[in-house]
Amino acid sequence: MIFAEPRGFCFGVRRAISTLEDSLARFGKVYALGSPIHNSQEINRLRSLGLEIIEDPSDVPSKAAVFIRAHGVSGETLESLAGKGSIIIDGTCPFVRKAQEKAAFLSEAGYMVLILGDKDHPEVQAIRQFARGMVRVVDPAAVSFPVESGISKIGIVSQTTQRKETLSLLVSSVTKMADEVRVFNTICDATSARQESVARLAGSVDGIIVIGGKNSANTAKLVEISKKTGTPTLWIENDGEMESGWFRGKRKIGIAAGASTPDWLIHKLENRLASAKSAREDGYEDD
Ligand code: SF4
Repeated sequence: MIFAEPRGFCFGVRRAISTLEDSLARFGKVYALGSPIHNSQEINRLRSLGLEIIEDPSDVPSKAAVFIRAHGVSGETLESLAGKGSIIIDGTCPFVRKAQEKAAFLSEAGYMVLILGDKDHPEVQAIRQFARGMVRVVDPAAVSFPVESGISKIGIVSQTTQRKETLSLLVSSVTKMADEVRVFNTICDATSARQESVARLAGSVDGIIVIGGKNSANTAKLVEISKKTGTPTLWIENDGEMESGWFRGKRKIGIAAGASTPDWLIHKLENRLASAKSAREDGYEDD
């Protein structure tokens, strides 16, 4: 078997989950604002340690420990939590924090702020709150942005998971119309590195297993990319979902894991594949 590298948790998710584990050990009970990770097996493990997920900050009991996930939250939410005496455990990814800070800086400097990203994504919603004044979210599927008359200074930041090509398209579209354009590249390479890796691997194996949550957008993207190459692709959430018939006729198997797939699930899959190979039951071979 060959792994697509990098695999599994990105830096920001690893850091956030490690911070959460430390705080669960310390406080016993921790409330998380929104699901900390899109992986149900990992969520079940964290729940067993004392995690409770809530969606609305008003549901946090006073003086409770509250975890902020890697996507971050708005300054107003942090203030309202501080107001009720919450112990705030901030798992905001430093790359997301940078996008928030740049958006705040641009709006304070008098720029209209454009955020390239999905308007419904919590990361984008939080970045938007940091940009006071004129701010627009630009849909990556339609990056052309008509600059309104009277607006001469435009500042641009991006949701961390967007593609650099899309950001370039937006910049060139805006540059044609505004007098002054200031751009901060706030894209993180963790997502694109995993996508490029799975595309490369798909060309050299007979089949790819992608392990990751069915509710994980970044895992779904890996599956989509792998399928597009024509390589048979199996999407599983855990090693127990492997279908032995799927291995028939395949000699080389590639494995990819989403940025929200924990190491322990990857290791379980690796072990199961290794023991299946040694038993020579499933008809596949290592490289
Ligand atoms: S994908 Fe990048 S920005 Fe998002 S949590 Fe991971 S490291 Fe941070």
